[in-house]
Amino acid sequence: MTDSPDGRAEDAIDEVVCSAKGCRSSATWGLRWNNPRLHTAERRKVWLACDEHRGHLEHFLGARGFHRDTVPVGDLAASDG
Ligand SMILES: [Zn+2]
Repeated sequence: MTDSPDGRAEDAIDEVVCSAKGCRSSATWGLRWNNPRLHTAERRKVWLACDEHRGHLEHFLGARGFHRDTVPVGDLAASDG
């Protein structure tokens, strides 16, 4: 086992925490977004969200035109290499 020293295993999604500020809940959703000014069209950034903050974060991204789609956290591992 040679995961990075701080214990963060990039491809292990069994301990995911909501991206909302101050929230320590485990995330159940992956919000995929793209900022056309910074990212190529195919690029996807991912925010994680718990049930409570999913709507808030989607609204935040949507208001800026960044939100692309939202998928269950379990689906992120499958589609993100
Ligand atoms: Zn949350």
